[in-house]
Amino acid sequence: MIILGIETTAHTFGVGIVNDQGKVLANAFDSFTCNQGGMILDEVAEHHKKVAEKILTKAFAEAKLSWKDVDLMAYSAGPGLDPVLYTGYHLAQAWSEKQNKKLVGVNHCAAHLSIGKVINQLKDPCYLYVSGVNTQVIVDENNKYRVVGETLDLGLGNMLDKLGRSLGLGFPAGPEMEQLAKQGKYLELPYTVKGMDVSLSGMLTKVQQLIEKGIKKEDLCFSVQETCFAMLTEVTERAMANANKKELLLVGGVGANQRFCEMLKIMCKERGAKFYKVPMDLARDNGAMIAWEGYLRKETQAEVNPHWRVDEV
Ligand code: AMP
Ligand code: MG
Repeated sequence: MIILGIETTAHTFGVGIVNDQGKVLANAFDSFTCNQGGMILDEVAEHHKKVAEKILTKAFAEAKLSWKDVDLMAYSAGPGLDPVLYTGYHLAQAWSEKQNKKLVGVNHCAAHLSIGKVINQLKDPCYLYVSGVNTQVIVDENNKYRVVGETLDLGLGNMLDKLGRSLGLGFPAGPEMEQLAKQGKYLELPYTVKGMDVSLSGMLTKVQQLIEKGIKKEDLCFSVQETCFAMLTEVTERAMANANKKELLLVGGVGANQRFCEMLKIMCKERGAKFYKVPMDLARDNGAMIAWEGYLRKETQAEVNPHWRVDEV
């Protein structure tokens, strides 16, 4: 069985193709970027419409397949940015009607988790999902995802991007902040852990004040990384101990950060657990994960839902 997945929850437009063994046959994408400021939703939606056909063609070329080979289609039904989600849905619907293919809507967060699980061939991991919007520690309990810890306010990626904007960096800011952090020194910032949850808004406010005082970018980036990653490592360790998990899977775009991976790896090693991540092409928002989740949920129905939580799947 061949499944084609379409991702459009945020700044990435992706088309991926997988088979029913979870093998990725193609994973083409184009992401909206801009030199300054953040995402203007209408501009992102326009971007996705503009690149859609090109990315679809690229995915078919990569997989050496065509429409006639596709057995099932999937699109991200949420969570995501309202107008952008609908742009993706309408594109997917138009293609599915034209090609006469069954279309299923899937949860974007669940897709991040399932692709990581199949690629690494894991049995029962604790998931740490850190993307733009989401910052969650998740476990699977009787085939139902349970969020055991999460951010009480904004997602870590969003916080880094907001800080990046105040620092005059491009969007998304994470990669550039990681490079700047390499030259930085530590200064103390609010460390807010509440049980298994974290809060990031206090740090955002504090760092914005420090930017106005002219504190060096490098020091701010280093200290933000050290503090946030330590907070998340702490809550993840607690979750793994409580749920008795021996595997940790890091997913989401912030997972590209080497320093973050290093901290989590040390924590896992100390407790006799194993740390896993996902190759960058599958860790970021992408169509292949949507295709695989579509295969796993091919019997279910879902509508576009910008606020669809992973524990509601
Ligand atoms: P996603 O929503 O999963 O595509 O993740 C996007 C988020 O990941 C954005 O907020 C980026 O700033 C962040 N990100 C990407 N690369 C890095 C990195 N190397 N370090 C920290 N954050 C990153
Ligand atoms: Mg995502």
